[in-house]
Amino acid sequence: MTKSAFATHEVFNQSPPFEDVDLFTSDRPLVEAVKAFGGGASEKELGDFGRHWGSAAMAARGRAANENTPKLRAFDARGNRRDEIEFHPAYHELMAHSAHAGVHNSTWTVEGKPAGAAAEVQRAARFYMAAQVETGHLCPITMTRASVAALASEPGLLARTMPVIATKSYDPSFAPWWTKRGMTLGMGMTEKQGGTDVRANMTRAVRAGDGYRITGHKWFMSAPMCDAFLVLAQADPGLTCFFMPRFAPDGSVNAIQFQRLKDKLGNRSNASSEVEFVGAYAQPVGEEGKGIRTIIQMVQLTRQDCAIASAGLMRSGLAHALHHARHRSVFQKHLADQPLMQAVLSDMALHVEASIALVMRLCQAFDRTPEDAGEAAYMRLLTPAIKYWVCKSAPPFLYEAMECLGGNGYVEEGILARHYRESPVNAIWEGSGNVMCLDVLRALSREADAALAILRQLSEETQGLPGADETVSLIGKAFRRSDSERVARLAVGKLALLAAAAALNKVSPHHAELFAATRLAATHASMYGTVDLAPSDVRALLERALP
Ligand SMILES: Cc1cc2nc3c(=O)[nH]c(=O)nc-3n(C[C@H](O)[C@H](O)[C@H](O)COP(=O)(O)OP(=O)(O)OC[C@H]3O[C@@H](n4cnc5c(N)ncnc54)[C@H](O)[C@@H]3O)c2cc1C
Repeated sequence: MTKSAFATHEVFNQSPPFEDVDLFTSDRPLVEAVKAFGGGASEKELGDFGRHWGSAAMAARGRAANENTPKLRAFDARGNRRDEIEFHPAYHELMAHSAHAGVHNSTWTVEGKPAGAAAEVQRAARFYMAAQVETGHLCPITMTRASVAALASEPGLLARTMPVIATKSYDPSFAPWWTKRGMTLGMGMTEKQGGTDVRANMTRAVRAGDGYRITGHKWFMSAPMCDAFLVLAQADPGLTCFFMPRFAPDGSVNAIQFQRLKDKLGNRSNASSEVEFVGAYAQPVGEEGKGIRTIIQMVQLTRQDCAIASAGLMRSGLAHALHHARHRSVFQKHLADQPLMQAVLSDMALHVEASIALVMRLCQAFDRTPEDAGEAAYMRLLTPAIKYWVCKSAPPFLYEAMECLGGNGYVEEGILARHYRESPVNAIWEGSGNVMCLDVLRALSREADAALAILRQLSEETQGLPGADETVSLIGKAFRRSDSERVARLAVGKLALLAAAAALNKVSPHHAELFAATRLAATHASMYGTVDLAPSDVRALLERALP
């Protein structure tokens, strides 16, 4: 009997895998945003990165790292404490590829100073592309890069750690950081009784010899195989930031005892631990009693990365949806040629165009902050607003992207189910939605003149765009209200939309016009595809999104 006699059907009308694509050059809004905000000189390197990260091999690593989740090995076979996490080799490979491209350190010089020029914009483009493939491993990557901002408060420690942080090597060996080819850093702030209100931290620090001994717990401490953590604990002068390495200076394993790994909705390749410190060695970072002021330097950068990663997840959702729609026929016509599907996809494309323009504009502000007070004010006011708006828009966006693939979108073999499960976390950690809105209000009250100047600047940059004047006035009125906290979500959302229109105006004025007409002059419906764009605009948006 021949093999074909068993064939029940022919497989056709399924889209081919969306792999072996150049994640950079196939994304015109990204290419243009990088250029508009100063990073154009790195187009070649970004193209190399985009081809590599868009390869089928990297997609396979992302899948394997999430299907084979990390395991806590708290004890060895004889009952001795081990406190190690085992990861699938694919996780280590992803870490190595990101480290090799400097995603964990390229915004710093080897001395730990801001690298300047367009280092933030260029690194953000890499982070954005990597997030389209695998986001779990980006947790230690982002924390390592951000930790340098807090370590800067302790110049001696910065000088000792920077030579190891600044290499492009990933060294997963469980060994003292000062003996390694490269190192990663995490952070421990959240305790059972409070993550937002870290002043309620109960973990205690007691001076002992040259350092401190820390006793207490953390309810969430991600990437537990990092070589060191920046940890908040109560010292005599108050809440203080500490550098807690996995190995004490004498080379012994530090008293960091992992209790469990969290069983999480998404972010599964990354381990997030519950941990106890049993008199663990640590040394203070920055002024004692001013721990929040020190660690917030780090948190500001991880918030920036949350927005970049969420924009990357949405880009991936859009690209997969568009790719599928161009190959899948329903009623003898490709989905991409059906007017209603075009309405959905083009509206989504407009959202992604604005999101990438906005995060790149923010990164430009980070690049310019050391020399420009105006840009520092932009960064201070807009980081929480942009984290709020971009991160919170990702889950409904990815749900819609999944639906564009029909049933295939909902199945784990595709990447969209993973992206969807991943997407809420960027809004929750590093300051949840309401906390971001309160942070904008804080910036407004503490630096009112600078914040007002930013609002004026955004007003000028959106001059003539539909609905811009009304939005500026609404924001001003809401923030002036004595009960501004009650309307903070409304005002912060509008502030982010205005900033997005201003950023997009620098990249593609026509698309800024479309964005403003559908998001500033009108309230955008909670569903995509409900705006009435001209057929030529629909075509252009989709062609820009994916040629
Ligand atoms: C996967 C994962 C990994 C994590 N990894 C780490 C880590 O490595 N290190 C670490 O330190 N933490 C980590 N966290 C913890 C995370 O940062 C906290 O969960 C987060 O900051 C929220 O704190 P909480 O859970 O205590 O919630 P709460 O602080 O209790 O907040 C609950 C809700 O109340 C809202 N809220 C808070 N204050 C106000 C207010 N004044 N007005 C109105 N609303 C308010 C918040 O926006 C939130 O929606 C992780 C969390 C997750 C999910």
